[in-house]
Amino acid sequence: MAIGAVLFDCDGVLVDSEIVGLEDSAEFLRSNGFSWSPEDLIRLFTGKRDDLFRKGLMEGFAAVLGREPREAEKEALYEGLIEARRANRHKMKAVPGALETVKLVSELGIPLAVASSSKQVYLDSKIERYGFGPYVLPHVYSAEFVDHGKPAPDIFLHAAERLGVAPDSCIVIEDSPFGVEAGVAAGMEVWGFTGGGHCLEDHPMRLNQAGSSRIHATHSALQQDLVRVMEEQ
Ligand SMILES: [Mg+2]
Repeated sequence: MAIGAVLFDCDGVLVDSEIVGLEDSAEFLRSNGFSWSPEDLIRLFTGKRDDLFRKGLMEGFAAVLGREPREAEKEALYEGLIEARRANRHKMKAVPGALETVKLVSELGIPLAVASSSKQVYLDSKIERYGFGPYVLPHVYSAEFVDHGKPAPDIFLHAAERLGVAPDSCIVIEDSPFGVEAGVAAGMEVWGFTGGGHCLEDHPMRLNQAGSSRIHATHSALQQDLVRVMEEQ
């Protein structure tokens, strides 16, 4: 295939953020009567936009309480979880090799973008903090500004449109089943990435079930495959 563009998810692909604060989040939820483990949190929410995360969280809360939570209770629960993550922010790192992958794609002359469920302000700060900016800016897109979050295709279609490339020529790099579904729904080829600290043993299988056509466990494996595909063109 001719690669028209590579669209990178951010969290769990470029930045190893999904694992950060997970234990503290589960602990906070336990103190509020939830029985969700860190693994449950990964399966339920990884890759989802804030509105879908909030919706799922409140459904769980209603089940715990046996009634609809009040507004103040909703806010306290949501803010407590955000704080559990924020308190661990200093532990966040780039995924090993991610910068080299982005650099390689750029040097191969392939257009690239970042398409993320993260809010734009957080996304921009992660892109800047780990040095991705020179290779990806200005094409850093948050699902905050499209109608529907992943697993809907909106953010990937938006990124392709802004790059001026056909969706069916794009390769999406994704770590979450919801993100893989979003890329497939956009008519793109999706390569699953399992190099993030949050990836469980069944993660490759879950990405394949969601529709990924290849799986890479490290950025160096992903780089080799990209070079191989470019040489075959
Ligand atoms: Mg992700």
